[in-house]
Amino acid sequence: MGCTSLKSISNDIPESAAADSPKAVQDTVKLTPAQPSQQAQVASQQKSPCDDLTGVSAEEIEKRKKLAYVSKTPIPDSHCSNCTLYIPPAKDKPCGGCMLFKGPVRPEGYCAYWAPITN
Ligand code: SF4
Repeated sequence: MGCTSLKSISNDIPESAAADSPKAVQDTVKLTPAQPSQQAQVASQQKSPCDDLTGVSAEEIEKRKKLAYVSKTPIPDSHCSNCTLYIPPAKDKPCGGCMLFKGPVRPEGYCAYWAPITN
């Protein structure tokens, strides 16, 4: 006698204490919405002037879609700023352009027509 089995100890834990177990805390963290700093980061990425297509015609927007232009290249060594068709930004401007369509282009963008600069 005098020895308490583990089963009898676990039965003595109140349900409220079980809810505070590490597993329950992890589940709570997973469901927490994005933190303010993450939201600000996403918002700043979306507010790039190079993504603003105001004033660009629907025809030109369609051209960039057909070329599968994306504002962030999926291929680290292939991006607009090292493409032969890239038009570098004018002085004091953040966005470049492309010879294939009108409108702003991010240096870190990419499309299906990427071609390396050959000097
Ligand atoms: Fe960028 Fe494509 Fe234009 Fe090259 S052709 S500058 S990869 S959009």
